[in-house]
Amino acid sequence: MAEETQGRIASETNSVVTRSAEETIAWGREFARGLAAPLLVLLTGDLGSGKTTLTKGIVAGLGAADEEDVTSPTFTLVHVYEGERSHTGAGASGSNGANAAPAKSVVYHGDLYRIESFHDFETLGLEDAFAKPAVMILEWSEKFPLQAPWPQVRLRLEHLGGDSRRITIG
Ligand code: ADP
Ligand code: MG
Repeated sequence: MAEETQGRIASETNSVVTRSAEETIAWGREFARGLAAPLLVLLTGDLGSGKTTLTKGIVAGLGAADEEDVTSPTFTLVHVYEGERSHTGAGASGSNGANAAPAKSVVYHGDLYRIESFHDFETLGLEDAFAKPAVMILEWSEKFPLQAPWPQVRLRLEHLGGDSRRITIG
């Protein structure tokens, strides 16, 4: 019975419907608050379902870049955002803590949509990124088998018509 309850809760709470790109970005910002490197974030969903839009929120929420600076890596294949996390937990106003170097937030954002062969995929060298803890967000990751030693979270996006999108965790 506990399992049944858990299943029901999971199916009710693991997805959200957003009604605009702004709402998806805002959801991504909130979602990012619970994330910590190293982590692989796999985004699945059709073209136009909102993967890149959601990534704007996640990257901004992680403090790696402003959302307007996050653009689709469809042609460039991988973007790297490196920002200094502004929050330190305790009043970040002064921020010249000499003995506490600000933590860098490193986020890779890749898109495998235009990669056609396994050879090209390997040439990307995504595995090299696993040397240091970061967050790697991948669109169309399902196209190739990525050997990743990091924990993963999968977010599925669905176009519900108009400006509505469903985002499902897992
Ligand atoms: P993908 O990366 O999955 O191909 P994009 O994020 O590039 O998708 O494109 C999604 C498009 O849909 C953008 O033009 C965005 O403004 C628009 N859009 C409309 N409503 C939403 C929504 N609720 N969530 C995300 N994007 C939305
Ligand atoms: Mg995209």
